Amino acid sequence: METLPLTAIKGVGEARAKALRQLGVNTVGDLLRFLPRDFQDFSEARPVASLKNGEMAAVRVRILEEPKLARFHGMTVVSVPASDGPDRLRLKWYNQPYRKNQVFAGQTKIACGRVDRARGVAMQNPQLLDELPGLIPVYPLCRGLTQRTVRTAMRGALELLESGLQETLPDDILADYGLCPLWEALHAVHFPAARETLLAARRRLAFENMTAYLAVVELQRQNRRRMNGIAFDVSGVRERLLKKLPFALTGAQQRVLDEIDADMQSPVPMNRLVQGDVGSGKTAVALYALCVAAANGRQGALLAPTEILARQHFETLSTIFGESACLLTGNMKKRERDAALDRIESGAALCVAGTHALLQEDVRFHRLGLVVTDEQHRFGVAQRAALEKKGVRPDVLVMSATPIPRTLAMLLYGDLDVSVLDELPPGRKPVKTSCIPESRRRDMYDYVARQAAQGLQTYVVCPFIEPSDTVDGPSATALYQELREAYPAVSFGLLHGRMGQQEKEHAIARFRSGETRVLVTTTVIEVGVHVDKAAVMIIEGAERFGLAQLHQLRGRVGRGSEQAYCFLLAESGGDAALARLCALTESNDGFWIAERDLAQRGPGDFLGTRQHGEGDAALFSAAGSMELLEEAKAAAQRVIDLPSVRNNAFLAAALARYQAKFDSIAMN
Ligand code: ADP
Ligand code: MG
Repeated sequence: METLPLTAIKGVGEARAKALRQLGVNTVGDLLRFLPRDFQDFSEARPVASLKNGEMAAVRVRILEEPKLARFHGMTVVSVPASDGPDRLRLKWYNQPYRKNQVFAGQTKIACGRVDRARGVAMQNPQLLDELPGLIPVYPLCRGLTQRTVRTAMRGALELLESGLQETLPDDILADYGLCPLWEALHAVHFPAARETLLAARRRLAFENMTAYLAVVELQRQNRRRMNGIAFDVSGVRERLLKKLPFALTGAQQRVLDEIDADMQSPVPMNRLVQGDVGSGKTAVALYALCVAAANGRQGALLAPTEILARQHFETLSTIFGESACLLTGNMKKRERDAALDRIESGAALCVAGTHALLQEDVRFHRLGLVVTDEQHRFGVAQRAALEKKGVRPDVLVMSATPIPRTLAMLLYGDLDVSVLDELPPGRKPVKTSCIPESRRRDMYDYVARQAAQGLQTYVVCPFIEPSDTVDGPSATALYQELREAYPAVSFGLLHGRMGQQEKEHAIARFRSGETRVLVTTTVIEVGVHVDKAAVMIIEGAERFGLAQLHQLRGRVGRGSEQAYCFLLAESGGDAALARLCALTESNDGFWIAERDLAQRGPGDFLGTRQHGEGDAALFSAAGSMELLEEAKAAAQRVIDLPSVRNNAFLAAALARYQAKFDSIAMN
């Protein structure tokens, strides 16, 4: 039943089915599993006075006058004043001239729409209803679909499967963890009657997903322990590398190299995560593993998330491997690229640094023995697996600057061993961080301007690229304009992810050379940009970031000899937001901060990044609590430990779902 084609649903023809397929929805079962990305809460009528700019809300209004129709720039606007009793608001419809004939003075209606408080209070393109519509799911859409068509199709799908939907979780697990049945959950998530049932439904669906995912992780781990990979000889490698490095290793680096030695010597393929703050020296650790591979005649690949970082790594590799180092990125000219591909295939290139370009099919290695992924959270599991397949059970090392609390790492990375670089190289001064109240914002920028005149450089990080009508918050482009006008003597630069590759590179080069003193940017600088002279970082709208991410951002300053400063500004959320950010002023220890983050915001952020780009992020982060994750882990173990027909069906579905994301999982 669940595999019925979409066209089996009443009202879904070939055109809609085609549109849905673009979203990865191929069958009736897929459709039911196609979850809303958000919900609009129209379950209560709100007083006008409580409305916030940009939010979706329902208000019970009386229409005060006859509506007026205006035209300008080829657009029509129907506008009418209304009141909720104590306060007024204006209803506006753009390009819906027919509204003029549907709205009358004296009517009482529920208006549902987006609040605009730019000039007075207004609501844009509201729906006018007689009753409160309750909770409305919002689905991700593509061309050819509207919220309404998806909802109609969803209703049809539920009717069609009325009795034919298979429960996926074993009964005892449903009972023991107090989960609602699949059928109820799907009903409640697509047509929520009340907040409580919606939450129960989301909990159940998230639980099932996590259990499936964690079961696959566990199978993967068990499977790997039985695999036969490469047993490397490490003798003499460390001494030779140390002679070429301009520094002595930190204690933490030595400890991690010991752990890598043990892994690489063993025939079980290494699968190790190295976590360490920005600047903790992960590159040297990667270099070491690459040297071990090379000393054994095996190629190593170093995968980086950005072009800039790949090039930086290539330069480092060249100092150690000379001519045997190689670079492969998406921006190379065909001739360059072909030459690189030849060297990789012949084995002349012992050590290859590259971006996503390394994952392409025509990249063939001669004898790939080691895969290192830098800033691993930028890559999905599937992408890493694609690279690992280019070798025969190669050793795998992943490096991350996002410290993940131990408890969470143990749950999530059941298939990985974890090493921690918890010591910075000597001589680093910790970044001094402070929270800046709005009243001191101006003083702070004056300070930055004075510093700029002395040659010091500053990053200003904003949560958004451009101003938008849906979310209100500091944007890089707007702030760049504002600052340029306020401080004409200072040279400002702009850098964000929507700029072209060349533009970005120029912006970075100008900042690096010191030509621009203040770089207004977004989180694109989170990875890769190293500028020693930049000793100050301002983070606008800091309350919009997780603590762990803020910590990672500030790691971009303080790499030189100057004392570095980080200033945090909260643009909304008031004192509570600032209090949360205070954790950052108290400590420079990424792991301690990550624990705080976990306690404050739940595991959603961490799960979200782990799942980045793989479609389940919303569901995982909706789950929220550590307890649920722990319960799912226990349930996963139960599903694996107690094989029965029922469990195997669950595992088979789990594997079908996540197999693409893993390398090779045998079911046995
Ligand atoms: P990350 O962990 O952020 O990748 P890097 O590997 O880029 O850090 O190292 C940051 C800087 O610290 C580099 O300039 C590197 O050469 C230097 N470094 C690494 N290890 C040491 C060490 N043991 N002693 C001194 N400097 C080191
Ligand atoms: Mg690094």
